[in-house]
Amino acid sequence: MKTIYFEKDIPRILITKFAARFCRPLLFTGLNAVKYNKKLPNAPLPGPDWVRVKNTACGVCGTDVSFFLATTGTSSAFEPIPGSARTYMGHENVGVVVETGPSVTKFKAGDRVTIREYMSGCGNKGIKPPCKYCAEGNYNLCLNYGEPSPLKLPDTGAGMGDYFLAPEQQLTKILDELTDDQAVLLEPSCVSVHSVLMDRPKKGEKILVYGCGMIGLGIVQALKIVQPDCEVWVTTRKKARQQLAKKLGADHILSGDIYEETARATGGSRVYTGMNKNKMFFGGFDRVYDCAGGGKANTLCCRLLAPRGTYMKVGHHMAAVTYDESPVWWQELKIIGVDAHGMEEWQGRRLYTFDLVQEWMRDGIYKTDGFITHRFPLDRYKEAFAVALKNPPELIKIVLDCTK
Ligand SMILES: [Zn+2]
Ligand SMILES: [Zn+2]
Repeated sequence: MKTIYFEKDIPRILITKFAARFCRPLLFTGLNAVKYNKKLPNAPLPGPDWVRVKNTACGVCGTDVSFFLATTGTSSAFEPIPGSARTYMGHENVGVVVETGPSVTKFKAGDRVTIREYMSGCGNKGIKPPCKYCAEGNYNLCLNYGEPSPLKLPDTGAGMGDYFLAPEQQLTKILDELTDDQAVLLEPSCVSVHSVLMDRPKKGEKILVYGCGMIGLGIVQALKIVQPDCEVWVTTRKKARQQLAKKLGADHILSGDIYEETARATGGSRVYTGMNKNKMFFGGFDRVYDCAGGGKANTLCCRLLAPRGTYMKVGHHMAAVTYDESPVWWQELKIIGVDAHGMEEWQGRRLYTFDLVQEWMRDGIYKTDGFITHRFPLDRYKEAFAVALKNPPELIKIVLDCTK
């Protein structure tokens, strides 16, 4: 079995962190904590409800890039959680079931599937009975994240590899009508849709989508599906993304000085400038989706919100950051964190985000044309990470071809 994973090996992690800051070429040597192992044994299925999947393709996500740079910090909430020695990379995959255990009921050989529950929850580890969150389908909020699996798990792999092993609970069947390209974009699309459904905008809201990559572009579309009567601004200097955002329903591009432009767009007060270009104004957006994350984005997004506005924290940062929290209390802001996907309520139904978004893709409501901009064979994954780090203007989504 061939698999890319992040090795929890402290000297390697320190070298990777050093390389990320001071010597980027070193990231692409054998010293990176992200390793490609081509000689893992093909282990038998570890449980009766497990399946073996042959990967077709896998997208590269910002989280994967974080692993490649080893950005996790020792002050983050992740640090105390005892993770496994290897984190198998790739959670935006499409593949085909090639083997099923005797008690598998949801899949048969030949079914196209994708990983739904990538995070190390009850379903992923085979913990039974599952915790209350996993039982209700909100696996992203699992209480057993830090607990070991009761099974003796071999190297299971994930999306970035030729094959992987998974309990059936971890997977979603892909609808026949979807192409492999749509299937590979399903997971990040679910993040966008979940962000919008978990706290739905009200009629007439003025909304900013800050950061306009795959997730931000998906939020633009999801907003117009869930609440057509809202006005959406996006921030991006990249022409290709501006065009795509407009096509997907964005009403305006925010360009120029972001404080001045926001004040003008939302009917806010004049902008006051203090020391070190420190700016503040009163008024702003009703809601901001921060798809960038990090201290600078936190500070900016809080200041761009109207009193009692809602800050949707979509962009993740796996280390502690500092930011100015004064607008949070001064302007009585609401902060809502978003993690991945789970169970949604939509038009009287209760279903997995994955199943809802598949329907939207099939019915042409949710579009993904033009999102995949780069493709590399799995064996050349380092070139894919080089492009991700360079972040050229046309880049939206890089996909690895797992058959090569
Ligand atoms: Zn992702
Ligand atoms: Zn759980």
